[in-house]
Amino acid sequence: MRASRFHLATLKETPVDAEIISHQLMLRAGMIRRHAAGIYSWLPLGLRILRKVEQIIREEMDRAGALELLMPSFQPAELWQESGRWDQFGPELLRLRDRHDRDACIGPTHEEIVTDIFRREVNSYRQLPLNFYQIQTKFRDEIRPRFGVMRSREFIMKDAYSFDIDKEGMQRSYDIMDQAYINIFDRFGLDYRAVSADSGAIGGSTSQEFHVLADSGEDAIAFSEQGDFAANIETVEALPPRIERSAASAEMQTVDTPGMYTIEDLANGLGVSAQQCMKTLIVEAEDGGLVALVLRGDHELNALKAERLDGVASPLRLAQREQITATLGSDIGSIGPIGLNLKTIVDHSAAVVGDFVCGANQDDKHFINANWGRDCEEPVKADIRNVVDGDPSPGSTGQLKILRGIEVGHIFQLGQKYSESMQAAVLDENGKGIAPFMGCYGIGVTRVVAAAIEQNHDAQGIIWPAALAPFQLAICPINYHKSEVVKQATDDLYQQCLTRGLEVFLDDRALRPGVIFSDMELIGIPHRIVLSERGITAQQFEYKGRSDDSAQELPLDELKTFVDKLYPDQCAPG
Ligand code: ATP
Ligand code: MG
Repeated sequence: MRASRFHLATLKETPVDAEIISHQLMLRAGMIRRHAAGIYSWLPLGLRILRKVEQIIREEMDRAGALELLMPSFQPAELWQESGRWDQFGPELLRLRDRHDRDACIGPTHEEIVTDIFRREVNSYRQLPLNFYQIQTKFRDEIRPRFGVMRSREFIMKDAYSFDIDKEGMQRSYDIMDQAYINIFDRFGLDYRAVSADSGAIGGSTSQEFHVLADSGEDAIAFSEQGDFAANIETVEALPPRIERSAASAEMQTVDTPGMYTIEDLANGLGVSAQQCMKTLIVEAEDGGLVALVLRGDHELNALKAERLDGVASPLRLAQREQITATLGSDIGSIGPIGLNLKTIVDHSAAVVGDFVCGANQDDKHFINANWGRDCEEPVKADIRNVVDGDPSPGSTGQLKILRGIEVGHIFQLGQKYSESMQAAVLDENGKGIAPFMGCYGIGVTRVVAAAIEQNHDAQGIIWPAALAPFQLAICPINYHKSEVVKQATDDLYQQCLTRGLEVFLDDRALRPGVIFSDMELIGIPHRIVLSERGITAQQFEYKGRSDDSAQELPLDELKTFVDKLYPDQCAPG
């Protein structure tokens, strides 16, 4: 590709509304453009990368025996009514009505459609196992679309659905997909982890997520530093501390704490550690009332654990400030478990703290030296917090370490949820109808592109892993339009690369070398060769790998073999 024929749309300035680096770099490199919240076009450069991601996925899915098809975005409501999700799905489901007043939605996922296909096309156990997949556009009306294509409303997903006659078959299909995902993410060349996960709204039991590791990741994932335990923090059990509660050493006292509303204010103001302070959160109860949840000040509430508690509303909702002040008579910054007339559940770690600090249920007052069992009843305990670095690892030895990840893939076992509700059955060997056992397997194709950048960039721009780079090699001539020798050498090299099937980008724009170099670094091409008149006279060319600190001068007569060696697998011998 010649730059003069390409739409290279790089921007010098960092767009102000782009918060994270991948979003900034995708805009600056001219990969995507925004039309509305969470709605993007992919420009030619971005599309090249997207296609690479798709191609790797397609090859590995095909190799794993899955069959590609293509399903519609527009989905009739009847199918969703059959599965029961028409009423269950929240506002993420974009519902619409066509000119004949028929209800429909734009597909956020395709369990209903694929089950409809299956029940019409497949009728015997002999046709199983079967795995259908597609790479297709989804729409989810996300409440907070952000970070560009990382969390957009319209995005491309690879989704696959397996069908088996029994549970064992479903497990086998799941294991095959698990391995296919490992192959896919290995081929991307990204640092990732597979972790066990919650199954969320789609249903089913066994489930695993694939996360690309990056500090900006929305998810926290917990790993055992010694064992092989790895899970999304949402699902990880915090084991109760093995230590006894420390004994009370002083009488409880009320202290004035004006202006101290957060745990940090309180710890600083009273000169104690956050661990010593109790954080009391008021959430809505199932019956419309309130429930108090108490955590150590340095711990965070785990919403999934909390909403599973008896009496707590699911999904979890923090109580409104007005309801709290009206019911409890004091503001949120001063609430505590002592003398509180509410159902109260205390995290295991909070329940072993002695002489603690907590709100006194009067504005601007706290208790110090409060003790469970002495100043109030023995607490009702539960695991309601997120695990933290250094917690013991459940299910294996060692301690947990927490890292941030971007969820790029998710595999689930669905069981018979859709095949039963939508009456998709096949005949078994005795002629009896059986609802097949399904699995579903997603990869956020557009999100993978953003995650790859989030993990691989520097101050100059993107550093593509070889498998995803839009071009493999940049040729940057200096004075291409003025120097005949430069033009000749450049055109020869360009031809050689094309003949070899390399994806080469020739920057033949009449621009200053500095501008060309910074564009090539911004868009992240892995290798750069510079040809100049001075170099050619000295029988040299310049080479720089995208992550190299500096360029090197190499003998011109080795240029051909040098280029062949960059991508040896792709070059025909001789
Ligand atoms: P998340 O928790 O990030 O919302 P999810 O659990 O809703 O994801 P799935 O329904 O499992 O996602 O979808 C499969 C994959 O699609 C996800 O692993 C993710 O990579 C991708 N994905 C989901 N929602 C979005 C979105 N709004 N924008 C881009 N990619 C998305
Ligand atoms: Mg989601």
